[in-house]
Amino acid sequence: MKTTINDVSENGLPNVFEELKPPLGELQAFTEASKCLECGGPYAEAPCTLGCPTGIDVPGFIKAIYENKIQDAASIIWDQNILGASCSKVCPTEILCEGACVLKEEGRKPIDIGRLQRYAMEHSSSDGLLKEKETSTGKKVAVIGAGPAGLSCAAELAKKGHEVAVFDRKQDFGGLIRYAIAPYRLNKDPLPKEARMIADLGVTFNMGADINTPEKLKKIEDEFDSIFLGIGLGKDVELSYPGEDLAGVWDSLEFIESIKTGEKPDIGGSVAIIGGGNTAIDVAREAARIGAGDVTIYYRRTEDEMPAYDHEIEEAREEGVHFQFLTNPIRFIGNDQLEFMECQYMKLGKPDASGRPHPESIPGTEFKVPVSTVIKAIGQQKRKGFLNWIQGIDLNNGLINIDPDTGQTSNPKYFAGGDALNGGATAVEAVQDGKIAAHGIDQYLGG
Ligand code: SF4
Repeated sequence: MKTTINDVSENGLPNVFEELKPPLGELQAFTEASKCLECGGPYAEAPCTLGCPTGIDVPGFIKAIYENKIQDAASIIWDQNILGASCSKVCPTEILCEGACVLKEEGRKPIDIGRLQRYAMEHSSSDGLLKEKETSTGKKVAVIGAGPAGLSCAAELAKKGHEVAVFDRKQDFGGLIRYAIAPYRLNKDPLPKEARMIADLGVTFNMGADINTPEKLKKIEDEFDSIFLGIGLGKDVELSYPGEDLAGVWDSLEFIESIKTGEKPDIGGSVAIIGGGNTAIDVAREAARIGAGDVTIYYRRTEDEMPAYDHEIEEAREEGVHFQFLTNPIRFIGNDQLEFMECQYMKLGKPDASGRPHPESIPGTEFKVPVSTVIKAIGQQKRKGFLNWIQGIDLNNGLINIDPDTGQTSNPKYFAGGDALNGGATAVEAVQDGKIAAHGIDQYLGG
């Protein structure tokens, strides 16, 4: 029988859906806004604005909060980022806007920009805030993928008067924001409100529409004047190690999605996470939140080479997550159910294509650890199969090459943005990709 996630912490940590950064109250928001120096001016952008991939006028919206003009603050945010509410929760603000805040240079705490943005988003109405739509151009654009890149591209195109239809194989919109971001950062709100705003612009959503054959793609090509690809990446990369199909060996996406549906995965007391990126950190912290007594991240290089953000590594450590560096799993062992993971020690060799030292295994150093669950978080597969159906599209090792100024691919009808270009970046960068491509598509269609 499936158990559901209760709202009681099992090991002293916040419960699964308890947010990492709780919302600010009115007085807190006013006090925080009052600390902002309103940097920048007519000749220079504020550092925080430059630190935001979508270029939100941060001092502008903070000033509006200080003056209690919350609708104005929201309007300033939506002007640059239609997913401003989602991004206020999932952005790594510590390394973006807040990381650039001048107060840090004085050794002070940066302005809490992420939570101020959230405050503006949650205390305002979207009614009538979006700019008037331009007159209909009569042009039709298909957006494949309802993730952050697709949604932002669709909204910008609709504002320019184009007829936009979004297609996604999932039943719900949001892409990686909905399905791949750990619930302690964001469950599903505020996505429904954001999708409603986009639908109000005239965008139609075709959810559960899997473009899974060349014929279906050809039909879209014939029907639409231009196509935006916000297709992201596919399933978790498979390790192809013996025992990978044992019960207890999870993919990271499957694990996060399971928690988000309210189902508590039965992970037992000893959880091993494989990988060194932000997803590995996310699933480790979630595993601890749902009651695993021991959570260890196994990474084949050292901490210096970990792609995860430093502050996230530190926070995970503070929550009791252990790290085992220079260690790689080679086999999963058990009878139907996982019982042990066999690992091997590694050493660092010469730099590889990633520019980081290549991890080399040390023969004879194999050892076994008892584990109840393994969660693989070593990256997602590229969408090579789908992309091979598009004539003349230029790929780089399975990722789409574009003109960075317009988002256009080498097949002029197709534009692209998001993780399918870069192999996995932040949601806010995907939003900006969608905006750039919308302008490119508009030019292509004679706008
Ligand atoms: Fe305010 Fe910091 Fe931005 Fe300056 S850099 S405007 S202090 S948030």
